[in-house]
Amino acid sequence: MTDFDWQVEGDTCVKLLSEIIRIPTVNRGNGAEDDGNEKPAAEALADFLRGAKVEPLLVAKKKNRSCMVARVPGTGEKPPLLLNAHIDVVEADAARWKHGPFSGEIHDGYLWGRGAIDMKHMAAMSACVLALVARSGKKLSRDVIFAAVADEEAGCENGSLFLVDDHPDLVRAEYMLGEIGAFSLHMFGRTFYPIQVAEKGICWVRATTTGSPGHGSLPDPNSAVVRLSKAIARLGATRLPMHPTEVVTRFIHELADNLPQPQRSVLRRLAVPQIAPHILDWLIKDDGQKRSFGAMLSNTASPTVVRAGNKVNVIPGRASVEIDGRILPGQTESGFLEELRHVLGEDVKLEVLRSADPTVTTSATPLFEELARTLRAHDPTGYPLPYMIPGFTDSKAYSRLGTKCYGYSPVRLPDDGVSFTRMYHGDDERVHVDGLKWGVRVLYDAVTRFCA
Ligand SMILES: [Zn+2]
Repeated sequence: MTDFDWQVEGDTCVKLLSEIIRIPTVNRGNGAEDDGNEKPAAEALADFLRGAKVEPLLVAKKKNRSCMVARVPGTGEKPPLLLNAHIDVVEADAARWKHGPFSGEIHDGYLWGRGAIDMKHMAAMSACVLALVARSGKKLSRDVIFAAVADEEAGCENGSLFLVDDHPDLVRAEYMLGEIGAFSLHMFGRTFYPIQVAEKGICWVRATTTGSPGHGSLPDPNSAVVRLSKAIARLGATRLPMHPTEVVTRFIHELADNLPQPQRSVLRRLAVPQIAPHILDWLIKDDGQKRSFGAMLSNTASPTVVRAGNKVNVIPGRASVEIDGRILPGQTESGFLEELRHVLGEDVKLEVLRSADPTVTTSATPLFEELARTLRAHDPTGYPLPYMIPGFTDSKAYSRLGTKCYGYSPVRLPDDGVSFTRMYHGDDERVHVDGLKWGVRVLYDAVTRFCA
């Protein structure tokens, strides 16, 4: 439906992605002067767009933490469509990587580097799509906006939340396409394209035990540290109760219905709360799948930061652990705290540090239909389906403006054993070069067909 040379446009996207991967935008969340450093990456994207005669705007809550927003106006007949990508990344330990995490080099058909899938690839694809929409000269029925935002990896304060709070008119849209979705998921020889329609909520909690302080030469089996350790061990060994949710049940059923037997029957039963724990424990062998499905079926609680004592010969009177809690749609904060208390015990004091509600967008929209249709057109072997991610993204911010958000950063991946999900914040993050080129075209088609 377009006249572009997709080989050339694909190469342009690969080059742009490599360029922005080489700009380290590491977000440690420590508030240091050089934290994030998104400005040069935002500027690189802005320069690219100016080359296509799109005039971008850079705004920042803090020095060096720029967000870039650009818009190609449509006829205004319908409200805008927003493309969003965060351009900050998490740290990378170069010693553990096969190729430099900020090299942006191509090896073995993959473009390597921190941000290759989380999520500078979407930033490069969105910039290319916006440039192509501008170059095509066709007036679409909606403005297409692209926001490249800072600070997603530390909670969005300097990024999407800043835009939504301080510059809502720049990003106000009926729909947003963003993180985690439309990648090929290979299961038992079948290919799926999950499109994210929901995210779990967060409930970050500090759990504290107290006891009598004392001398380290006289061990106390009931000290704050010992009791907290036991509570953490119980949490690590316990699965919180299963709660069926509509979006996850549908995901499991659609996934199962497209699998051969016996996987079909086994997987379908994951949607039954009484049976699911047994299937997770005994029938799902892949550890990554076990954990992913587990996180879709219950609230979760990961102990992360443990603090107690500061001198080896003093038994401290206080010990605490920070717990990263994630809550399913339909569940409440108080219900989750009750589940935690049940595992940790009544003598552990719980304090909520930060919380955010789950988000759910219906898949019964014309945009979702178009997104699925476009994926099927470009990969007839694949099956698109709505799903929920256990983490959170910039969707949390945009949904505050009433925007319907989908995870749709398309990449076609070969079934070569490279785990897409494990690369998030992991070693050797990389994106398949041909899969990325495929993604630009899918994203362009989805956007222009929907906004035609
Ligand atoms: Zn991300």
